[in-house]
Amino acid sequence: MLTITNAFFINLCILFTLFTISFLPFRNRPRLTPQSPLKGRVLLGVQSAVIALLLLGNALSLEGVLIDLRAIPIMLAVLFGGWVSGAVAGLLFLIGRFVVVTLTDGAMIGLYLAILTMVALVGTTGILRKWLDNTRRTLLIFTTISIAIFGSAIYFALPPNLFYPVLIVYTIMSYGGACAAYRLLLELRRHFESVQHQQQLARTDALTGIANRRLLNEAMANLTVEAEEYALILVDIDHFKRVNDTYGHDVGDDVLRELGMLLVSESAERHLVGRFGGEEFLIIMPHANVAEVSHLAESIREKVSAYPFETSAGTLHITVSLGACHSNDIETDSVLKHADEALYHAKESGRNRFILAS
Ligand code: GH3
Ligand code: MG
Ligand code: MG
Repeated sequence: MLTITNAFFINLCILFTLFTISFLPFRNRPRLTPQSPLKGRVLLGVQSAVIALLLLGNALSLEGVLIDLRAIPIMLAVLFGGWVSGAVAGLLFLIGRFVVVTLTDGAMIGLYLAILTMVALVGTTGILRKWLDNTRRTLLIFTTISIAIFGSAIYFALPPNLFYPVLIVYTIMSYGGACAAYRLLLELRRHFESVQHQQQLARTDALTGIANRRLLNEAMANLTVEAEEYALILVDIDHFKRVNDTYGHDVGDDVLRELGMLLVSESAERHLVGRFGGEEFLIIMPHANVAEVSHLAESIREKVSAYPFETSAGTLHITVSLGACHSNDIETDSVLKHADEALYHAKESGRNRFILAS
């Protein structure tokens, strides 16, 4: 009994460790499905074959029958990657088994049996996967199939008094292992999704939903790595304090939100628009030429001055002043300072203006 429990836990440890490592290439990607790009499905198949072979190497020997959890990685490959992942996993497993076991012990009967059970497992689960989803229920159906296949294979090889104990041990190990492995994968998925979500939040401005100062600073630091020409445009709302004083802070917030969206829609996808602080926004334009900068800044100025800002106090109109600097200086701080000086001049010369630092 102790040997069986021990072997089961060793197999679980192998499953857990290897699943965790195998999960890493998939951690920041959408969940793998039979429709995912082929590369990912093949990779899952290869990983599953390696795990299955390691489980085979640590099989529990009971009444002369080798019991292992190889079916679990194979079934999970089918569950997430469909029949392609399952076929890759099954084929590589059989090749590996032939090299490691058959070439050593020369027992062809074991190989034939392994081929037969693998084809039956991948074949049935691969076909069923078309109608079933990737839930735990499906995995339990697959597990039941794998137990039936294993049971049929040992039925003729063992006398009844040994057949039932072996089948019971295999059944408990299979259901237990499958549920534990599925839970682990689910927890890993939740963990990495939550990390991704937290990272996203850490870079998003809570009020406007666009990039925050942290992300803008990161993006500016990356500009210097490329050392190409780029531009920074600072956008500051004119007399915004009056909006707050007249209509209240909530209305001011509405304006900030709408302006954020407007700036994003006016800019191209390669530009990064963020809230730099208070009522000041920053647009980072990598690989931009002078003409592009002036064109974007002027079009934003015009668009904003004509735009009806829908707020809880009704439609409002505002203007913005813009200061920009175009450069290939690796010191983004000094480029930003020049943009800020240009913005100051735009304010000084009457607001609702754009000035490009020379
Ligand atoms: P200027 O044309 O010179 O830029 O004048 P201004 O009133 O826009 O500039 P000032 O720096 O005097 O005031 C900025 C105002 O922006 C003051 C502050 O209450 C407001 N503000 C900063 N952050 C927020 C915010 O998150 N929500 C709201 N509603 N107002 C904000
Ligand atoms: Mg202002
Ligand atoms: Mg300001």
